[in-house]
Amino acid sequence: MARIGFVGLGNMGGGMAANLAKAGHDVHAFDLSADALERAVAAGCRAAGSAAAAGEGAEAIVTMLPAGKHVAQVYHDSVFGQAPASALLIDCSTIDVATAKQVAAEAAARGYAAVDAPVSGGIAAANAGTLTFMVGGSDEAFGRAKVFLDTMGKAVIHAGASGAGQAAKICNNMVLGAEMIATCEAFLLADKLGLDPQKFFDIASVSSGQSWSLTSYAPWPGVGPETPADRDYQGGFATALMLKDLRLAMEAASSVGADTPMGAKAKELYEAFDQEGNGGLDFSAIIRTL
Ligand code: NAD
Repeated sequence: MARIGFVGLGNMGGGMAANLAKAGHDVHAFDLSADALERAVAAGCRAAGSAAAAGEGAEAIVTMLPAGKHVAQVYHDSVFGQAPASALLIDCSTIDVATAKQVAAEAAARGYAAVDAPVSGGIAAANAGTLTFMVGGSDEAFGRAKVFLDTMGKAVIHAGASGAGQAAKICNNMVLGAEMIATCEAFLLADKLGLDPQKFFDIASVSSGQSWSLTSYAPWPGVGPETPADRDYQGGFATALMLKDLRLAMEAASSVGADTPMGAKAKELYEAFDQEGNGGLDFSAIIRTL
């Protein structure tokens, strides 16, 4: 079993670090929040006094932080030159592709192997160890990372070179944002046309309108499996996080000159929904404003 440094024990990182500890790894954990650190200790991790201390003598260092600036700061201040050169750096945060590539290049220049390994699945999957990991990095670094990621996920996929994991994540979530809005529109139109929403669900879920937003995450209460719509849109995947991912997708699209009109419209609609004070509601709650 390995000594692992884990930095960022929030909604997602807390469950992920706990699963590594449960599998028998010696997890030295750090978070700026004392409460988050306390919860990680209760779940079997050891408390480190700083991010640098978490990485001391580590075979791998996992980061699960809010955004690119946090990852760059932790790598620069606490990992580079301080963690053993043999340590594998695994960043599971969702961050911009440019920063992911930049920190991977800086890591390589200092002799560290590094991967970007963002996740799909949310808090329940982080706790259950059933995340999907999309991984960017060399074959060798992927092989080393997979051993640890398998403990926290149900699917670990090598997306390509550094930054490819983040590219996969934002492309996936751009589809999800646009698809959710289209699904909401269809439910509302069906209802206005006098079609029973349950009948619309029964038909579209076995027709060409089928999608994850419809069959696994229906935004209409009482239809399909239980979803945040059945809990007044509490819990689930917050609108603010969907907006973050759509902004990252639009930034990336403009950096390479890709035309993404549907993604841009989804971002615009989620921005308006967020500005009305709905950032904490599940992203399917956008049905309320359409
Ligand atoms: P969170 O805000 O709950 O957790 C982030 C943690 O990082 C916090 O506990 C914070 O104190 C800590 N932190 C910030 N800066 C730090 C530093 N310099 N040193 C140590 N700790 C520091 O966020 P989350 O929901 O756990 O999300 C983490 C990442 O996962 C984000 O990039 C998010 O986009 C992504 N993600 C989240 C979900 C979700 O459903 N919550 C799903 C998929 C991906």
